[in-house]
Amino acid sequence: MKAIRSMVLVSSDAQSIANGANDVYQALQHEITSFGLENEISLTMVGDVGRHDASPLVIVYPEATIYGPVKKEDVHYLVEEHLYKGRIAASMQAPVRELTGKIAWLSARKGTLPAEQRIVLERAGIIDPDSIDDYIIHDGYQALAKALTEFTPDQIFDKLEASGLRGRGGAGFPTGTKWRFVNKTKNNKKYVICNADESEPGTFKDRLILEGDPHSIIEAMAIAAYSVGADEGFFYIRGEYVLAQERVRKAIEQAKEMGFLGKNIFGTNFNLELHVHAGAGAYICGEETALIESIEGKRGEPRPRPPYPTTNGLWGKPTLVNNVETLANVAPILRNGADWYRSFGPKNSPGTKVYTILGNLNMTGLIEVPMGITLREVIAIYGKGMKNGKTFKLAQTGGSSGSIVPATLQDTPMDFDSFSKAGVALGSGALLICDEDTCVVDLAKTLLNFFRKESCGKCNPCRIGNQRAFEILTNISEGTGTMSDLTDLMNLSDNLYQLSNCGLGQTSGAPIRDILNHYRAEVEAHIRLKVCPTGICPMSGKKI
Ligand code: SF4
Repeated sequence: MKAIRSMVLVSSDAQSIANGANDVYQALQHEITSFGLENEISLTMVGDVGRHDASPLVIVYPEATIYGPVKKEDVHYLVEEHLYKGRIAASMQAPVRELTGKIAWLSARKGTLPAEQRIVLERAGIIDPDSIDDYIIHDGYQALAKALTEFTPDQIFDKLEASGLRGRGGAGFPTGTKWRFVNKTKNNKKYVICNADESEPGTFKDRLILEGDPHSIIEAMAIAAYSVGADEGFFYIRGEYVLAQERVRKAIEQAKEMGFLGKNIFGTNFNLELHVHAGAGAYICGEETALIESIEGKRGEPRPRPPYPTTNGLWGKPTLVNNVETLANVAPILRNGADWYRSFGPKNSPGTKVYTILGNLNMTGLIEVPMGITLREVIAIYGKGMKNGKTFKLAQTGGSSGSIVPATLQDTPMDFDSFSKAGVALGSGALLICDEDTCVVDLAKTLLNFFRKESCGKCNPCRIGNQRAFEILTNISEGTGTMSDLTDLMNLSDNLYQLSNCGLGQTSGAPIRDILNHYRAEVEAHIRLKVCPTGICPMSGKKI
């Protein structure tokens, strides 16, 4: 019989694999056997642990020592030092990311990762995502069992509403209320859909949740389907997320074998079939009605709303669409209760938020923190400060369709209501941190270039407006802009917002509005002085 004294975990998200995680895993297998430790050490591949700066990671428990980035050539030394001789291989440890100051109340769990508050990512980086047994050992499918055997759908909606959970896709609509709408719509056929078409540039949190803990979303989909009265559901996963698709497909098969999907789940009369639908690369298919069109086999174009999917969704049937992160909160809430959930974050936006932090920081990656943390805290604590000691200039929140948040708002709590009051949007979860060398004209031009290419072309304001805005910004960046261009840009921004059919067009003018509101002098310098103050735009090359 084995007497395991150490667990060794290797990160196996897509980036870790690209950086050689599979080779490291095989080298560990080989070295552990060579040292005769195979009966004492367990070796597992796990999902993302939020440290892309140091992937692939090797984590050794019970010491919770984190090594990274590990190369296969390093493995012999690591095994000999740590696992054979019992000494930490200090030279290979990943840089520490500790928590201090204002959020010291986020007590890092002793003996585990130096952590943020993890609800959504509670198992990511700890369990083997390909093992349903691992998931079950870590409280998996308990919430589904409770939901089916102890709660009525109305009790589930009550609990979700009491928890204050709001959709994490960007809009922040109350989740329990949305579920109730679908439940109250009478129809003999309903669907649930998990929106995993995560296409915002810089956003990859949903991928990491699916890669690291796929069963948690399957469990939430089953709870959702039971609650609203659906017997069929779809995972719509971005086409490029091949590993996430593989893991979800495998997890669905495992859940079927164990009786958590299929017929008469937990001995009840509840049945559920789940399918995986891979996207084909269109950004607009993250919009829920375009996504539905795409599943139906049509061109991915948004439908006019109303009617909403809650009444007229997939194939005209009532359909619940939730984003991955929203769903990932459901089982923890049902297991631990609404009051527990409300103990994190502010009153009107309780819970946590998963962010991908990137840009001009010393440390980038994935974090899960309570709602209400500020940009200043993210930069100082998780990002380890600005790279090369530069000054923070702005953050772009929520991918391309988010807001450009100036440094003056860096102490605004990041929650739905506080951000909305400040006139900016929280968005879906990417935080692009930019330093003083970032040109706002260049940034807006890059974003508008993205939108003009991703516009589905169905309505004129978006199809033509984004193209025209890009042309004007290009002129300004090349020193051929005029002051009347600024009026045209503001009009375009307003018209995009008011006249576009869907969220893509409605938000695509936001960068224009934001740079003119917060950085007008810098934009005007491009026109009046023919100078780019940061030296980024092609006309200049010199700073003033
Ligand atoms: Fe398509 Fe843009 Fe109109 Fe949306 S706003 S329907 S993306 S053209």
